[in-house]
Amino acid sequence: MAVALIVAAGRGERLGSEGPKAFVALRGRPMLEWSVEVLSAVCDQVVVALPPGVHAPAGTIGVVGGAERSHSVRNALHAASGDPVLVHDAARPLLTAELAQACLDALDARDLDAAIAAAPVTDTIKEAGADRVVARTLDRSRLWAIQTPQAFRAAVLHRALEAGAGVLAQATDDAWLVERAGGRVRVVESSAANFKVTTAHDLAVAEGLLC
Ligand code: C5P
Repeated sequence: MAVALIVAAGRGERLGSEGPKAFVALRGRPMLEWSVEVLSAVCDQVVVALPPGVHAPAGTIGVVGGAERSHSVRNALHAASGDPVLVHDAARPLLTAELAQACLDALDARDLDAAIAAAPVTDTIKEAGADRVVARTLDRSRLWAIQTPQAFRAAVLHRALEAGAGVLAQATDDAWLVERAGGRVRVVESSAANFKVTTAHDLAVAEGLLC
């Protein structure tokens, strides 16, 4: 029985909205609702990490999120009962059921601990120091821009989230926590259309694409 964890407890300060980002109106519905609708069709249970005092959307289990994204994932995981676990950011309202299912299907390979949505990188990526001087140019053909959803075996995610507070604070995705513990993670090809709404520009683009 697959369970989806949606993290929606961030403040989203870069968006400049009044309330939390996941509740900003997108085509007349709170941003979170778009992900809930898609993942409810793919998973048997949906758990949502929310800011304090916010009600869970109908049909979902709500938990209060934590100070860092990984804490929100951990709180949601503790309230979940299912395996595998699909973790998703409410800030990516353009995910599709096909992508979520493809991540779950990829995890059927017995040698994998996680299967994560990712788009091939189209920009050239360079690494620069604090002085902005370029140190090196990476081989783009091997680079992937990592997104959510990310599918995990439940036991693997439980173990990964037992990392110390410093490590959890550093994690920008959950797959990294699995990688650093020696886990095997595979990317599942997605597209740039599954972007994260971070700025007011992103919100306007998402409004235009959703219908
Ligand atoms: O801030 P950012 O856009 O990277 O956050 C990614 C996702 O993690 C968002 O959906 C946000 O609501 C969630 N988050 C959370 N708890 C936090 C920080 C972020 O649920 N403490």
